[in-house]
Amino acid sequence: EKMQMAMAREEKILVLVRLRPLSEKETAANEVADWECINDTTILYRNTLREGSTFPSAYTFDRVFRGDCLTKQVYVEGAKEIALSVVSGINSSIFAYGQTSSGKTYTMIGITEYTAADIFDYIHMHEERAFVLKFSAIEIYNEAVRDLLSTDNAPLRLLDDPEKGTIVDKVTEEILKDWNHLNDLLSVCEAQRRNGETSLNEKSSRSHQIIRLTIESSAREFLGKGNSTTLSASVNFVDLAGSERASQALSAGARLKEGCHINRSLLTLSTVIRKLSKGRHGHINYRDSKLTRMLQPCLGGNARTAIICTLSPARSHVEQTRNTLLFACCAK
Ligand code: ADP
Ligand code: MG
Repeated sequence: EKMQMAMAREEKILVLVRLRPLSEKETAANEVADWECINDTTILYRNTLREGSTFPSAYTFDRVFRGDCLTKQVYVEGAKEIALSVVSGINSSIFAYGQTSSGKTYTMIGITEYTAADIFDYIHMHEERAFVLKFSAIEIYNEAVRDLLSTDNAPLRLLDDPEKGTIVDKVTEEILKDWNHLNDLLSVCEAQRRNGETSLNEKSSRSHQIIRLTIESSAREFLGKGNSTTLSASVNFVDLAGSERASQALSAGARLKEGCHINRSLLTLSTVIRKLSKGRHGHINYRDSKLTRMLQPCLGGNARTAIICTLSPARSHVEQTRNTLLFACCAK
């Protein structure tokens, strides 16, 4: 029976695609939108100038969201079920994957806020249990892990814990009080992420940000009686480095000069995702990068995963948009 349950729970990675609208700046520069969502699952490339070109023009996923969709809709119809599995003790990860300026941060911040609001509601509706909701945030830049809630710039170490799996040693964990507290912490992270860089875009395009909400709960009737069991699970919101970094590294291949930056975490994640999408069996090389190592307890086993692939509709971005869609196809 246990076996059956494990099999029933095994599921694919949920792959969502979100097209953003053209920005005012792009419109002012006479940019053209070449991509269109023709229904809830299919996105179409419509460039009449390139008709007859060799790449496919229609791509189908679990769900695609048009440029005029609100983040609330992406959350409710896409990420919510997976993000909220955390209240039942199931770990999960929600990724935003896409080129720089495609809408990753815009999407992930909104989804983090909606998830936290629903977790607060859940806590208020379940007074029979005592809950602690914790917030932590780290950045991975050049394979170094940094605490986004601390001004101490020293890299954090990843350690193996016999019970919890990989943990981030000495990471700051704030106990989330309420909605305002969450917004304050998100602002701190944003400021930290900018710190020391001349241009935010330059850094955020190369670094991964992981916001983690951990929910711990125990039944109140057993509290303090020594026989209470604590349920604990985490949901991770992963705002990935710009995907153009992965394709640059891949295309440069062996010709990369020494010291040139390869985003190991992004490349390893692609490999891990591809393997997971074929079933959660066999050896998966989580330990090949900081990102996959720290997320291992929230990627393998019973954990649930959603990837939101963000796309720019702009004609000038067509190559990166296709790369993102190819990644999305590999993950489904
Ligand atoms: P990324 O994190 O992928 O580099 P951002 O999230 O910073 O991209 O988005 C780039 C710009 O586009 C921002 O100004 C953001 O507000 C805007 N934007 C992104 N997605 C949307 C959307 N779905 N609707 C409206 N504006 C968006
Ligand atoms: Mg960003």
